[in-house]
Amino acid sequence: MSPTAKETKKRPLSPSWDPWDPWYTRSQKGRYELTSVEFTVTQLCNLRCEHCAVGETLVEKEGVALPVESMIRRLDEVETLHTISITGGEPILNPRVVKETIRPLLRYAQSRGVYTQLNTNLTLPLSRYEDWVEDVDVLHISYNYRDAKDFHRIAFEKYGKDVPLKTGEALYERMVENAQALSKAGVFVSAESLLSPFTAPHIGQMHRDIAEMGCRRHEVHPLYPSDFAQGMEMISLQQYRETVTHLLDNRDPDVWVLFGTLPFYPCSDQEEDRDLWLRLHREENVTVRQDPDGRNRLNVNVFTGDVIVTDFGDVPPLGNVKRDRLVDVFARWLDHPLAEQHHCFCEQARCAGPNILVSQAYYSQWNFQKRQAQVAVFNKKAGDQQASE
Ligand code: SF4
Repeated sequence: MSPTAKETKKRPLSPSWDPWDPWYTRSQKGRYELTSVEFTVTQLCNLRCEHCAVGETLVEKEGVALPVESMIRRLDEVETLHTISITGGEPILNPRVVKETIRPLLRYAQSRGVYTQLNTNLTLPLSRYEDWVEDVDVLHISYNYRDAKDFHRIAFEKYGKDVPLKTGEALYERMVENAQALSKAGVFVSAESLLSPFTAPHIGQMHRDIAEMGCRRHEVHPLYPSDFAQGMEMISLQQYRETVTHLLDNRDPDVWVLFGTLPFYPCSDQEEDRDLWLRLHREENVTVRQDPDGRNRLNVNVFTGDVIVTDFGDVPPLGNVKRDRLVDVFARWLDHPLAEQHHCFCEQARCAGPNILVSQAYYSQWNFQKRQAQVAVFNKKAGDQQASE
């Protein structure tokens, strides 16, 4: 299993090159372009995590997917495509999905030099990953646990029937062993933690566990208040600040820490939030990713063909791959009032505005179109990233 062949063809992922970040297109071209397409390839999953962003759509038995060739024809029309993400459910639970949808999409991406990410809970036998994982640039997992007991509670919270603790423990151990084995084999494993009142106090330990598993990147996001997680308590902004600061003070410097959908902005009236923004842009091996959803990415459901902006299920599908070109759907979204409200842009602060769900959860009183960054992270003359007040 060698990832080196593909890495020689593509610029390796690093804190200075994250092709999922819409920042590059927006800052270089002055507009958003569709560079990223996410496919929901299954609605089956062996878990029912309490934080699942698609939990309500999971099923016991699913229908027939649209032919992958029709998806690929739509991708062919996207000249600006840089990344493809594959998500579920658990994408590799059903071998038929791997064979008929995932492998052709990965092969297509390889042929175009497009980066790929696959989201998995990594709890299936290692052999189920081995014959295709070398075609994946990022293997994305969730990690919100201190131990197997936490995993058992979180993964089966919404299962609808009792699952023995030893079943949960076995799956947790397999996930850890798989992450270790795949990382050792050179796979880029990126582990995501969702900050919630439960996970925030333990972020230091979770980060150490992620580093020990050999993961190259630790992604940190707020718990998204959608779907299964709609009723869950959100972390306060003060707790969020303290958690981010604690992680920065105690992180493993060799693990890339990526903050996504961050609820702090350089236009904040709070000095501590502006300072935090600056610190995040000064630290080595730490990045803040601008929100891809609706800025460079659309999601396609391979069963219905519906196209949506991920995580924002309140907006009805914006189109359907059976009749619409993806670039046309994306253009339609950019004209949507919700997109217009949240697509502010402050170049010198390296900020392209908030994630819609995060803005609604924490900043419902703010009009982002009327705000302006009060700090800068770029020295324009040098063209460098350099944090300053
Ligand atoms: S881009 Fe928007 S959120 Fe970011 S600093 Fe400017 S006004 Fe604030």
